[in-house]
Amino acid sequence: MRSAVDTWILDLDNTLYPASVGLADQMNTRIRAYLANLFGTDDAGARRLQAQLVAEHGTTLRGLMNTRSIDADDYLAWEHTIDYSVLRHDGALADALQSLPGKRYLYTNGSAYHAEQALGRLGLTAHFDGVFDILEGELIPKPYAESLDAFLARFAIDPVRAAMVDDLEVNLTLPHDRGMTTALITHEPSADGTPYQQLAPKRWQVQDLPAFLGYLSAQ
Ligand SMILES: [Mg+2]
Repeated sequence: MRSAVDTWILDLDNTLYPASVGLADQMNTRIRAYLANLFGTDDAGARRLQAQLVAEHGTTLRGLMNTRSIDADDYLAWEHTIDYSVLRHDGALADALQSLPGKRYLYTNGSAYHAEQALGRLGLTAHFDGVFDILEGELIPKPYAESLDAFLARFAIDPVRAAMVDDLEVNLTLPHDRGMTTALITHEPSADGTPYQQLAPKRWQVQDLPAFLGYLSAQ
């Protein structure tokens, strides 16, 4: 049977690997050090600044671009000077991605460099048809409409035939409104042990990404 979904959109951080590997923690530590240095504050002050910038501007970087003149490339290079060796090849996910009908895209608020490093470590580079990073989005991140529109236009995606997986609910609201199938990934075992649950039409919660992709692509 031909799958109802022919475009697969995946977030990177805390989606293709669980938060428990600590890569996002490493990036947050780097970001707080950057803020502490820039604003002459301590880690607690940097934590408050980061929360405020993310709340008001979507990402720390966009907040800094809007409120201070900083170099985005310098910032991203600093943020991504991290230890990628915590990521391991994920053969089950590679097989699941390879089996999907249609196109597979990575849609990340990180940089292309970060995506390249992480996908390489995960052994998933060959399984994506395209990467849309924060620079392609002209530094406007998910969940803003400008970002989603630029992403959809870049790859000529029909949202009604697309499925998107992300670890942040806020990033899935607009795609769902546009007609996409959306899946919130938690990586935490569900109460009843099932690998994925349908919450509403075209809305899913997922614990086991390979199992979910296999299921949805067969529908
Ligand atoms: Mg994420």
